[in-house]
Amino acid sequence: MLTTHILGFPRIGSLRELKFAEERFWRGELDEAGLLAVGRELRLRHWQWQNSAGLRFVSVGDFSYYDTVLDTAVLLGALPARFGFDAKTLTRSQYFELARGNAQQPACEMTKWFDTNYHYLKPEFDAHTRFDGGQSWLLDELREARLAGFTPKVQLVGPLTLLKLARVNGVEALALLPRLVPAYVRLLLTLQSEGADWVQIDEPILALDLPPAWLAAFAPVYRELADAHPHILLASYFGSVRPHLDLLKALPVAGVHVDIVRGGDVLPALADWPQGKVLSLGAIDGRNVWKTNLDAVLDLIAPLQARLGDALWIGTSCSLLHVPIDLAQETALAPGLRDGLSFARQKLTEVTTLARALSLGRSVCFSTLEAQRNALTNFRALAGRDDAQVAARLANLPEVERGLPYTERAKLHHARLQLPLLPTTTIGSFPQTDAIRKQRAAHKRGELGTADYEAAMRSEIALAVQRQEALGIDMLVHGEAERSDMVDYFAEQLAGVAVCQHGWVQSYGSRCVKPPLIWGDVSRPKSMTVAWTTYAQSLTPKPMKGMLTGPVTLTQWAFVRNDKPRSEVMLQLALALRDEVAELDAAGIAAIQIDEPAFREGLPLKQVDWQSYLDTAVLAFKLSAAGCRPETQIHTHMCYSDFEDTLAAIAAMDADVITIETSRSAMALLDAFGEFAYPNEIGPGVYDIHSPRVPPVEEMTALLERALTVIPAQRLWVNPDCGLKTRGWAETEAALANMLVATRQLRTRLAQGETPYRSALPAGHGHGACDCHTA
Ligand code: GLN
Ligand code: ZN
Repeated sequence: MLTTHILGFPRIGSLRELKFAEERFWRGELDEAGLLAVGRELRLRHWQWQNSAGLRFVSVGDFSYYDTVLDTAVLLGALPARFGFDAKTLTRSQYFELARGNAQQPACEMTKWFDTNYHYLKPEFDAHTRFDGGQSWLLDELREARLAGFTPKVQLVGPLTLLKLARVNGVEALALLPRLVPAYVRLLLTLQSEGADWVQIDEPILALDLPPAWLAAFAPVYRELADAHPHILLASYFGSVRPHLDLLKALPVAGVHVDIVRGGDVLPALADWPQGKVLSLGAIDGRNVWKTNLDAVLDLIAPLQARLGDALWIGTSCSLLHVPIDLAQETALAPGLRDGLSFARQKLTEVTTLARALSLGRSVCFSTLEAQRNALTNFRALAGRDDAQVAARLANLPEVERGLPYTERAKLHHARLQLPLLPTTTIGSFPQTDAIRKQRAAHKRGELGTADYEAAMRSEIALAVQRQEALGIDMLVHGEAERSDMVDYFAEQLAGVAVCQHGWVQSYGSRCVKPPLIWGDVSRPKSMTVAWTTYAQSLTPKPMKGMLTGPVTLTQWAFVRNDKPRSEVMLQLALALRDEVAELDAAGIAAIQIDEPAFREGLPLKQVDWQSYLDTAVLAFKLSAAGCRPETQIHTHMCYSDFEDTLAAIAAMDADVITIETSRSAMALLDAFGEFAYPNEIGPGVYDIHSPRVPPVEEMTALLERALTVIPAQRLWVNPDCGLKTRGWAETEAALANMLVATRQLRTRLAQGETPYRSALPAGHGHGACDCHTA
């Protein structure tokens, strides 16, 4: 049998056991032994699944109580010096302090893991970082796997990827290699002596556009590592490694893993793969939830197997961390839809089926292959459609321009909205209180009737409106009480989209998301937000901002069917949202916000692919926004973005107002917008909503004074940096009251002819992920 393996399994647990155990540990309700027991149980369960599916290896090193990149830094003994911790004696509590911060130190910065929705903690290295080794929790897990009778393959984040992703201060990153590589060598020797025959070293940076110096580092680094451990599987994933194939063929490692789902263009170039060197094909998609067309994959790889024999391995494209755990838990999905799906546990069997069919012949797996074929036929029947009609609709898109340029629209908005200088607003959600959650849960369980539930939500909306009026906010929001989540709310109402019951995927630490499944043609059977918004507007003479999640974000945060282009899905979503925008407009709603927090994260890994993504994303946004008349003001919101690469595209979206997160690096962000001369209105977040702290008036004043240096007062809005759903009312009201004081003072000073501005601001330190969409 060909060797089969996966590149990692989700650790959170099919009932999110790890999440709940961690959160109890943090609250002091579970002791360390209790937490570790949950971890052990999950590892064992996941290994058993891998083993009983028939995989040759179980995956060790994919488990983590918070993040595997942080774990790697701990293992190597390279902790941020500012914490003053000793890596060798690090306690679990200290480990969590690195991840979550403590009273003295902010947490390690968190950032997206490549183009996934998983966030890792950025290691912090400098010229003094020693890699002297730290807690060897990994070795305990390795022993655990062996004791339980499994054949382990240990995985590590590779040295070059680790360096590339780290924040390296005061020294050239590659200059750390002479200390880092010996640390890996020591680690590999230890792993070998502990019985890890194969070690998978992950170097996903191979999917990026790598500078020559980084590419050149691979050969010498891996020569040293391979000397220490003869069985290294160098794993690349998330993109094509075709440009680096010569390098990979020549590396002295025992094997190389390539992702043929996202990097299938590499296949023809593998025909002369060196004999005897393991080639692992990542053929089962670790980034999506659809069943694999096994026949098609077999056709693709059979010629390689004929040549390479047992040196060919079969695996998942990347770690299964990015997909939900077990389809068996989804009992409410339509049958045809279930037929199309494969979650982490099901993918284990897909891997072994491929290997069996290759080793023993397709006839041996005839019934399994046939079952898969039939399931996919059922799915296609469900998702089937009139291709010509879809194409015609997308070929004849309605007008995407707003009818008037921004400067003309702004005059109409001015007349219609009657807002003061420096208008104040919020990003959409107000606290999702326990009372709201309880009512929603009761409604879901069928204990609270729809009429009663809706009445309860209306009273929450009324309360939010009252509180905003009392604070004196200029443009109000209804508060999103009726939405459990900004994506799910729309996913539940759109045709062609389904929502799982348990399909959780880890976003960071204990936080998870449940991406909807976009399985069919997307359309909007009826209005989604109009009744709530018009109700809220009926309660106040102030303008009420409609609130939608944008087409780019809905696409990005979902599992999108893989048999048609994402761009098509994005445009279908845009058309659906456009109808919603038009209906809000017709109902007299004068401002509509279309949230696009995931705009930046959709940017492809390779720069050659950027423009086509950006073109579609901008088109989709404009298509939604142009559903309303020019006198209606379109807002958008983006959070935690690194705006530098996308500013031109953001400007091209032509929203009348953009609110952005600025707490992380107010200076850099405002400078970027200023330098670019962003032409429309901007609301830089004047305070960080990601902590319960109530910032004093002076802090917000300072930020606004700073903003005035790059944004003229006529185009400056005042708002928090993100939605308030995760906060409590007390801190929310206190912070907003301060925001209003700062605004009023500044308005007075401006009216008196002062030009208040300041050039310097202390740098902020945000936490790098948004909780607007995690649970
Ligand atoms: N309207 C959403 C909210 O306020 C926006 C959140 C977001 O885009 N991050 O929760
Ligand atoms: Zn946010």
